[in-house]
Amino acid sequence: MPALFPLFADLKGRTVLVVGGGVVARRKVTALMEAGARVVVGAPQLAEPLAELAQAGRIIHRQGLFEPTWLDDAWLAVAATDDVETNRAVAQAGEARRIWVNVVDDAELSSFQVPARIERGPLQIAISSGGGAPMLARHLRERLETQLDESLGALAELLTRSRERIRERVPDLQARRRFFDRVLAGPVPGLLRRGAHVEAERALDDALAESPARSSAGRVALVGAGPGDAGLLTLRALRLLNEADVILHDRLVSPQVLALARRDAELIEVGKQAGGHSVQQQRIHELMLEHARAGRHVVRLKGGDSFVFGRGGEELEFLHAHGVAFEVVPGITAALACGAYAGIPLTHREHAQSVRFVTAHCKGDAKDELDWANLAAERQTLAVYMGVGGLDGFRRKLIAHGRAASTPFALVENGSRPEQRVIIGTLADLAETAAEHAVQSPALLIVGEVAALAHSLHWFGAAPLSGSPVRYAQAA
Ligand code: SAH
Repeated sequence: MPALFPLFADLKGRTVLVVGGGVVARRKVTALMEAGARVVVGAPQLAEPLAELAQAGRIIHRQGLFEPTWLDDAWLAVAATDDVETNRAVAQAGEARRIWVNVVDDAELSSFQVPARIERGPLQIAISSGGGAPMLARHLRERLETQLDESLGALAELLTRSRERIRERVPDLQARRRFFDRVLAGPVPGLLRRGAHVEAERALDDALAESPARSSAGRVALVGAGPGDAGLLTLRALRLLNEADVILHDRLVSPQVLALARRDAELIEVGKQAGGHSVQQQRIHELMLEHARAGRHVVRLKGGDSFVFGRGGEELEFLHAHGVAFEVVPGITAALACGAYAGIPLTHREHAQSVRFVTAHCKGDAKDELDWANLAAERQTLAVYMGVGGLDGFRRKLIAHGRAASTPFALVENGSRPEQRVIIGTLADLAETAAEHAVQSPALLIVGEVAALAHSLHWFGAAPLSGSPVRYAQAA
């Protein structure tokens, strides 16, 4: 069977007949009205809100049972009754008069079909399975909905508005193609995404003023990759991964997330292990600059959120100082992910009225600038981002400054990942319990009464582990 021929019809001011006055008819009427059609609804009676629309004169009601003469002034017809015979009669009458008829949910009787579609302003994407697999078309539509940014509508409008200007300035078709490639790869889409419409228009003007030979400006997106589970990425992060030329990622970013990157994007691991030094940070800065200046779309991808113990601030300051355009996409930080995936609410009306995100390197170094008295206060939760090496020192200081040795803790290793482990105990036994279970990085330490809730609220992965009673006896 030959494939259907796709077609976008201009229905403005043209008469379209809809046969049927119920819910299905109403859906079709709404879509036709949006396209500016003059809608005639033929049915014995109309259900609300069609009756109301007829009353207001926005549609025309033909009362009665379908007659072929109803089609006389119509360009198109839709049969939307629940009566197969009526629908068939409309289809046959349409066929005889060469008027396109869609019979709702009946591909066989239809001479035209209405596609599943995605709308972004004047931009429309229509999907058809030929009528045989509408569910597949719907599924695809949902996927595309998540991938295509809302701001595409504004982009289509801007380009429509500027069409004449662009033609005048770049009359040659080939050159115009290159110009559009350059604009679409440049800062205009990103500006629109941020809602900066005036700046976007100006950037388009700049691109028009530029000599066509100059390459487009690159840009850097600082993107939070979340804790590992790719389902925790934001839609915007996903889109940027799809558009990236170069992705500079930390070691902490999971393979599941990297698998979502554009296939021909260049992946560069710039991860630093705990204790990694500033030479590496310098190298990251250089790479960002080099690729952005070459006109590429750079995604700087970090575990969790870039602004939570991620040095995102320093990287932006650097980009700002070098005049490179950037945007920031937040990610789910380890504290939120580990709390959620371990069944530990970070605040709780009965146990903790505040939560602190802390990072600690307690290897006995002099650089300890933490306010221990405050950290040891009751009725708060500590979410501690650290390597597992510092647990002993951390516990000692906290207890020395007054936090009860019986305060519950939870260590969440590989939070949100399939191999996640949760280890629970009390502060007194923190280091020993961690050693007993050989807890590895990345692990987040949660200290506070709420940590004990993981016993009852855990839902993801294996049940929480705790320290062995024999060892407690030895320690006592
Ligand atoms: N910017 C990141 C944190 C980087 S610091 C964020 O917002 O999450 C690195 C520390 O984060 C690790 O030592 C560990 O304590 C914690 N961490 C990151 N990902 C983790 C995960 N999946 N599970 C447990 N802890 C994690």
